Amino acid sequence: MLTPLVEMDGDEMTRILWKMIKDELLLPFVDLKTEYYDLGLPEREKTKDKVTFDSAYATQKYGVAVKCATITPNKQRVEEYNLTEMWKSPNGTIRAILDGTVFRAPIIIDSIKPVVKNWKKPITIARHAYGDVYKASEMRIEGEGKAELVFTDKNGNETREVIYDFECPGVLQGQYNKDSSIESFAHSCFKYAIDTKQDLWFSTKDTISKKYDQTFKLLFQDIFEKNYKAKFDELGIEYFYTLIDDAVARVIRSEGGYIWACKNYDGDVMSDMVSTAFGSLAMMTSVLVSPDGKYEYEAAHGTVTRHYYKYLKGEETSTNPMATIYAWSGALRKRGELDGLGDLVDFANKLEEACIKTLDDGIMTKDLVGLVSEGFKATAVNSADFIKAIRERLEASLA
Ligand code: NAP
Ligand code: MG
Repeated sequence: MLTPLVEMDGDEMTRILWKMIKDELLLPFVDLKTEYYDLGLPEREKTKDKVTFDSAYATQKYGVAVKCATITPNKQRVEEYNLTEMWKSPNGTIRAILDGTVFRAPIIIDSIKPVVKNWKKPITIARHAYGDVYKASEMRIEGEGKAELVFTDKNGNETREVIYDFECPGVLQGQYNKDSSIESFAHSCFKYAIDTKQDLWFSTKDTISKKYDQTFKLLFQDIFEKNYKAKFDELGIEYFYTLIDDAVARVIRSEGGYIWACKNYDGDVMSDMVSTAFGSLAMMTSVLVSPDGKYEYEAAHGTVTRHYYKYLKGEETSTNPMATIYAWSGALRKRGELDGLGDLVDFANKLEEACIKTLDDGIMTKDLVGLVSEGFKATAVNSADFIKAIRERLEASLA
């Protein structure tokens, strides 16, 4: 390796898996170079969360990071870890600094069939995680009166638009978004489509929302034509805009194999639908892509607290390490591509192949065994044995 990966360690069960993955699947095979940041809650407390900020700045500097799941503290965690403050979500902090979009895609295997039977390839959801209803101001209206949108510019000039003349009680909501955020979202989506050589779909409700959603549509179209169309043509991939309801119908009828970019609310809802239909949260990969092309790979699931408490009691756990292994393989592949290291790209591919082969051979963690379709056999093993089985297959393919 030439450039270090930014390594962000985490909490609980995923921290245990993190070490197992490094010891069994990475260090014996790769001359691994990382810049290590411990985002485990004790270290965040010790550094007053500086370590999280530093890890995000390091990602800006080096370009590729791999992150373990971390605890987002709540009241109970403040007591459990004796925290001086309820530290913010590390993912939120990192996303704000990198200004990125999160892309989530399932890992698909033959023996677990998606609920939607014609889905054959992964559907990647890109959610615009800024603004709209998540940053809205709301009012409960108790009786008659006129509701208006008022914008006051820097010179004090007002622009007004009547929302509704209330004759009875009701509700009112004001939402916003920013061109700069929508543009960042668009750049991240087009870059990731080129990177993964997949079509990009984007959907809003611009026929009804003629200024708000229309702005999303026009900014995407403009950025596509000015910056990315030539590259899309060269790769033979497509940018496709459609209405959200039409998109939903097309997604269900499709084979998969594309990226679906969604506004904030649509992405919240659709990502849960798509991941549930594909099978398991433990098989969802996640990557944060910034508009200037920085990458942070992680698993979509959390720190699997319930399993960790069992582990602490000395009980055997069968926690699925797939998404965390894919975070590593994704980051190593990207590093290899950026630095022109064919061997590293090849290793990342072989590591993923060894994982799939292990599952195809019917060796699985407990969470997956119950999902296996009729006609396939599967045995549940613990996490350590599952990782050992992957290692055997990896060694065979590297030999
Ligand atoms: P979680 O860690 O994703 O686990 C929820 C449940 O899903 C588990 O109890 C387990 O079900 C199942 N599960 C998730 N991942 C699994 C895996 N790899 N293998 C097997 N089963 C898996 O969510 P949570 O319990 O709500 O959150 C725990 C902590 O994670 C919280 O402190 C939260 O702040 C944090 N979190 C972090 C991130 C992140 O860093 N990106 C994301 C989400 C949550 P069973 O118990 O039924 O086996
Ligand atoms: Mg949600």
